[in-house]
This record gives sequence, C-alpha cells and structure tokens, in this order.
Amino acid sequence: MQIAFPFAVILLAAVSVARAEEPKNAEKAPPWMKERSDRLEKELSTKYGAEAGARLARGLKQVAGFWRAEDGDADVFDDFVRTNFAGEPTTLDALFSRMEFAFESFDGHMLEIGRDFRKQSDLDLGPIYPFDQTLAGYDPSAHVTDDFYDNKLAFTVLLNFPLTTLQQRLGEGDKWSRRQWAETRLAERFSKRIPAAVNLSIAKAAAAAEQYISEYNIWMHHLVDEKGVRLFPPKLRLLSHWNLRDEIKADYGDAKTGLAKQRTIQKVMERIVTQTIPAAVANNPQVDWNPFSNEVRPAAVKDSDSPAPSGRGSGPEPDTRYEKLLITFRASRLADPYSPTAPTMIARRFDENRQIPEPRVRKMLEDVLSSPLAPRVAALIEKRLGRKLEPFDIWYSGFKPRGAYTETQLDEIVRKRYPTAEAYKKDIPNLLVQLGFSKEKAEFLANNVVVDPARGSGHAMGAARRGDQSHLRTRVEKDGMNYKGFNIAVHEMGHNVEQTFSLNEVDHTLLAGVPNTAFTEALAFVFQARDLELLGLSKPDPQSRALETLNDFWGTFEIAGVALVDMGVWHWMYDHPDATPAQLKEATLQIARDTWNRFYAPIFGKRDVTLLAVYSHMINSFLYLPDYPLGLMIAFQIKRQMEKSGSIGPDFERMAKVGNVAPDIWMKNATGSPVGPDALLSETEKALAQVSK
Ligand SMILES: [Zn+2]
Repeated sequence: MQIAFPFAVILLAAVSVARAEEPKNAEKAPPWMKERSDRLEKELSTKYGAEAGARLARGLKQVAGFWRAEDGDADVFDDFVRTNFAGEPTTLDALFSRMEFAFESFDGHMLEIGRDFRKQSDLDLGPIYPFDQTLAGYDPSAHVTDDFYDNKLAFTVLLNFPLTTLQQRLGEGDKWSRRQWAETRLAERFSKRIPAAVNLSIAKAAAAAEQYISEYNIWMHHLVDEKGVRLFPPKLRLLSHWNLRDEIKADYGDAKTGLAKQRTIQKVMERIVTQTIPAAVANNPQVDWNPFSNEVRPAAVKDSDSPAPSGRGSGPEPDTRYEKLLITFRASRLADPYSPTAPTMIARRFDENRQIPEPRVRKMLEDVLSSPLAPRVAALIEKRLGRKLEPFDIWYSGFKPRGAYTETQLDEIVRKRYPTAEAYKKDIPNLLVQLGFSKEKAEFLANNVVVDPARGSGHAMGAARRGDQSHLRTRVEKDGMNYKGFNIAVHEMGHNVEQTFSLNEVDHTLLAGVPNTAFTEALAFVFQARDLELLGLSKPDPQSRALETLNDFWGTFEIAGVALVDMGVWHWMYDHPDATPAQLKEATLQIARDTWNRFYAPIFGKRDVTLLAVYSHMINSFLYLPDYPLGLMIAFQIKRQMEKSGSIGPDFERMAKVGNVAPDIWMKNATGSPVGPDALLSETEKALAQVSK
C-alpha cells in the first residue's frame, strides 16, 4: 500500500438520499465569447505569427470551455487574454518553468502539511484525542482548484498549454518530447472545474455506500442447517464480502467441515447478491438463519450482547445494496458536465486514472478468461482437491506454497535482527546493496527515507517536492519486528525507492511518479518477493515459484470476471439513469450470469451463477475493480523483466525515473512490450509444465 497524497477523510454522515438530484448542464460559455475569441485570434496571430496563432486558437477554446459569468465580462476576458497569452517562445518557456517550480513547491508543502496533521493518527505515538481526529480530517488542498480559477492562474495554464484526450496521448505521445508530456500533465491539473456542491454530493454518496458496506457483517455461529447444526464457532463475525471470501480460502485447510462451510458461505453470498437475504440477518447476532431454506428464528444460543439492529422489516432486504450503488452513480454523474475531456465516470476511470482505453482493458481481461490455460489449471485444481469444481472454487487457495521455514522460526530470525525500527533504518543501505544497488545509490536512497513507527500494518508515503523525504511506516512490536512486519517493511521500502527515483531523478517534476498505482505496487512486489533472500535464507525453489504463478493466474482469472461485471453494470446505469434499485438488481444479476455462462460455466459445469457480483467494491468504490487484474498483469511483466536482467538495482532505477507518462509508453521502455497479459500467460504455461514434472 502507499499513500500518495493527503486524503480528505470523509466523515461518515448518515445520508439517506433516495434519489440524488439530476445532473444539470454545465453553464454554457457567455454569448459574447465566440465573437471576442475570433477577434483576439486575428489580432494576436498578426502580432505573434501563425504558429503562436494556432496555439492561441486552442487556448481560447480551452478557456471558453471553463469561463463562467462570474469570471468577468467581455472586457475582462479580452484583457486577460492579451495580458496572459505567452506569444513569444521565451515567455512561454518562462511560464512553463515557473509553473513547474511553483507547483512542485505547492504540492510538496501541501503534502507535508497533511502528513503533519495526520501524524498522531497515522503513527504509533500514544492516544488519539478528538482534536487529533479533527487535524487528520483536514485537507489543506481542498479549495485549491477554486482558488486557481478565482485568481485566473488556471485560465493562464489553459490559455497556453494543451488539454489532451487519452486518444491523443496514446496516438501521438510516443513522438512527444519530455517537455510536451510535462506540458500535458500541467494542463491536466485544470481539466475539470467541478463545483464544490457537486464534490460534496459525491463525498456524501461515497460515505453512505461506505457505511452500508462497513456494517454488513454476518454472524457465523448463527448460520444453521435444517438440523440446527452450527458449522462456525461462536462470536465469529465476518464482513461481506472480504471476510467471507477469506473464510472460503481458509476452509481449504479444514478437511472435516471445510466443504460444508464453503457451500454455506456460497449460499450466503448468493442471498446477498440477489437480495433474498432476510432484512433481519445482517449484523444481527440475535437471530438464527438457515441460508438454504431462508428460515429465520430468534437465536437459540447467545454469543454476543450486540442488540438487534432496529428498523428492519420482516421480509427480504429491500434492494438496499442496489440503492446505494445507484446513489454513487447519480452523484458521479453530477460531475460529468464539468469534465469535458472525460465526460463520464467510466471515462474518468479508464482515460484518466488507468490511462488505458476501456476496449483494450476489456480485451486483456477476455484474453485471460478465454485462455486455453484456464481449463488446464482448473483440471489441476480438481486433481488436487479430488472432486469436481464448485462455483466457490474461483477462490481456490491451495496453490499457496508452504515455505521451508515456519512463521515462528522466521519471527525469531527477524526479531533478533531488528529489535527496533531504528535497527531496520540502519540496515536499509545494506539491504539495498543486496538488491543490486551500488553503494552510492544505496546511501542516496537511504538518506531519502524516514522510518516511522506505524499505528496500522504499515504504508509508504512519498514526498512531492525535492528536498523532502519519503516516509516508510512500519510496525515494530515491543519485543522487536516480526516476520510479517518485515515482509511489509520490505514492500513499503520498494515504494519508497520508486518514490525517491521518480521524484528526484525524473527530468521534469511535472512528470514525477508512475502512470498509475498498479506500477508502484508492481515495483514494491519486486522487493517484497526477495524478503527471504534479504534475511540470508534460501530463495524459493522452482516448484514453489511455479505454484505461486498458478496462484496468481487463478486469482487473475477470478477477478477478471468480477471486473467485467463491474464495467457492465456501470454501462447499464449510464444507459438507464432513471432505473429503480429493483431494475438495477435484475440487470446486475443478468450481467453476472452472462459473464459466468460465457467464461466460467464451461469449466465449472454449472450455469447461471451470480457470485461474480458479490464484491463490496462494486457498491462503494466507483468502478475500481478492473485495477486488480490490471495490477496483476503489470506486476508479472515487471517481475519477468527483473528476472531476465538478474540484478534489480539498475533496472529498477531505469524504470522508475521515466515518471508519469502513458502506461504503454512506460511499459515499452521498461520491458519492450505494452501493458498486457502475455507475461502472465507464458509464465503460467511454464508453471504448469514445472508442476506436472
Ligand atoms: Zn503497496
């Protein structure tokens, strides 16, 4: 995990918006705009020449797209353009470098303020008081877009630098100079002018969906079969869907009742997706429920004092799951008119966040799902399980190799080596040299990393201006660091190294960073996978590495289908903006079944399964799910490149300092190929051969 920028912590507000307001059209450009723009174009083209004129025509159009009545009348506009258009190349260069310098400072200091305001709540430094929470919830940069439109800095950028679409960046980007890429990123900062009220609606919708998801627990001891048998221990409370899915994975290790437990959880998941789950059941230890017959009774045993939630009807849950999803959709849509280069939530996710067009992502997912490797891996799973596959086996976890050392042995080794966070900090240069960085590079990197005691499991927080350092937050128990803590610390250190190179060695700070989070995660995994070697222990043998690959393939095969359902549902909502929750439910079930029937039914021998729609992210994360399979594919490409070159250090540096260009350009530079599933598929092929040796 990494935290790139201070998050505005969305305070949980109990919002019940049955139907958010309909999006209205963004304010149109004032009526005088066209005539004044034409006149200015003629006037300034004559003054500065044809090349500047073409630049101006583009700039005038961009400014017109965002100018509102309150920004000023026709004379203010004329004056603004005449004053701020950089007609001469020297002025344009000066403007560019001033902006690059100023925004590095601005971003960097905003990040530092946010980091300091969150210090007490992020770090293991004693109690968190209410004022600490207030500090942590503050986002100093919340109003900057408004400020920069108010003082017209945003318009100055839009008047002089190009706003581009993803299609342009992909079509022309590999011929662009680094400066052109940096100009594009500069203009992108102002590609939206979303009113504060719209942002507030989106935050409220996100909070409402988040709250619904975070309270959706199933009390497992209260699941009963027709004979009243309870499979799960008292007090066990599992959050849908993550904990339920992880329980399915853990149950592969339970030879006695594992299968019965897995079948029960599958039934629970289906009841949630179809909303046939009785309204009384969620988060309620005061009732017993048979998910097969759907019968609910007062609890016959007591394992918790938690009261029954109030206000639940006696029938099924009234499609609340889909109502929450609709709320997030309708709120997202309010931003559409203010985001001309990516005018839907779907476009913002693919064109802006992922920077890979949706059709290409779809093709990559389908390539994995329809790969002839899938039935071969499935057959291997059946052989290992000694039975036919059942639908919940999309979460099969039995490929996870068993290491040569027990967790206790590893804890012992790590504890001795790192009794304190300070001891780990001291060892960073040595660890980096082991990873193939030169002594000088290792010192440089170590000097750019601060080690902090994390309150949670750990994270990495990069810097945003040169001169600041990135922070590695790691958990050290009282008696020293344990193996899990070390494993995470090595992962986070990978983020810190990427963050340090991609800020300090990139040629333009406007290009600092990586194309999207999948890239920094992939680089962090490269470090994490070497953790045993860093402890001086033997590295995983070919057999366990092959099993690891099969585990990754099966995970991608599962989540690729889930991602396709998420995408299908968002398209359906855009096509049916006035749908009721019940209609959205029917559509979601249909999309989930169709996806299952197309890619999974031939392998599992069962049709019309709805499990692919159970992910909670689908309800509260605004089309986030495709990031998972993409991340797995990207990780594989980078991993394979690192293996080819042998030593990590120089390759890691070469990749990280390219910065935030389009993903395909980044990946071609890193590995020679654009982003895609080929590396994953060819490694899976090899792994199958290795395992069946
Ligand atoms: Zn990470």
